[in-house]
Amino acid sequence: MSLQRLAQTFVLSLAIPALVHAQAPAAAPAKPDSPQVQALVEKAKKSAGSQWAEEAHFFCEAPRGNSATDPEIAPTKIFDNVYVIGNAGTIVYVVQTSNGLVMLDSLGTAQLETQLLPGFKKLGLEPANVRAVIMGHGHADHFGGSPYFQDKFGARIYISEADWNLMDNPPPGRGGQPPAPQVRPKRDQVVTDGQAIVIGDFRVMPVAIPGHTPGSMGYIFPVKDNGRTRMAAMYGGTILTPGPISDEGLATYLKSVARFKDATSKAKVEIVMQNHPLMDPVQPKLEKMQSRKSGDPNPWVVGESNYQKFLDVMYQCTEVNIARRSRQ
Ligand SMILES: [Zn+2]
Repeated sequence: MSLQRLAQTFVLSLAIPALVHAQAPAAAPAKPDSPQVQALVEKAKKSAGSQWAEEAHFFCEAPRGNSATDPEIAPTKIFDNVYVIGNAGTIVYVVQTSNGLVMLDSLGTAQLETQLLPGFKKLGLEPANVRAVIMGHGHADHFGGSPYFQDKFGARIYISEADWNLMDNPPPGRGGQPPAPQVRPKRDQVVTDGQAIVIGDFRVMPVAIPGHTPGSMGYIFPVKDNGRTRMAAMYGGTILTPGPISDEGLATYLKSVARFKDATSKAKVEIVMQNHPLMDPVQPKLEKMQSRKSGDPNPWVVGESNYQKFLDVMYQCTEVNIARRSRQ
């Protein structure tokens, strides 16, 4: 990164901290739920069971966007080859491969110097070893940290074609305001549904999941836990607050969740790795990691059937949000 770019990044990070709020809090429902909506909420809670009760409450009843005030988490190694850095609202996964490091997402520009690079340092990871940054979708709270790695170390940047276009033509802000200026990566690699991204011994399968953005991507990939390979997935375009999403967007999202359910079921995914872990809080898992003894289960591994239930709850709470719109 040139000094000028660095200065620009710094100024922008000071000037527009609101950028991290890619998903602003939605207004509370104006009216109480109809009996039909209440029944759908109950159905989602039943699917959730105790494992996903918090998720059902979040998606069906109390959604909120990620925020600049979400508390920072302790950077932690969560699998033999995976580290997590960030805050309670937005996180980055760093994967050690046989050919350097791969990042899934990159936080916002404002967190580069405050969370991301300090996290690398604390974990003993070298930012210069980042070969690739693979983004869930083209919003600034996910791609804002990536230009640093592209400019300074030549890391390849992976985003879907539709979301490269979204980044080049960001939609107007609330109330028709011009879009806020964004420090964004230069056009690079295009992620395509069903075409594996291979970096060293790490193989990531992208699944198109439009809805939150036109080019949102889910990713399915193996991780290693105490030497054992297990399948993980990140639904890279979760709608936290349905308010700003169009009716069409919600309908598309519903289909995408079903699509991802199918793909993750076939791949035998048993690990939830969300980039906005608000519905599946990360802090309790990190605490369990700290006291984990050999032979204890890894708190990130939920099992195949619980992974499917996680997506069932997303699906059913989206049905709730759609039904809330259709009432008179
Ligand atoms: Zn977003």
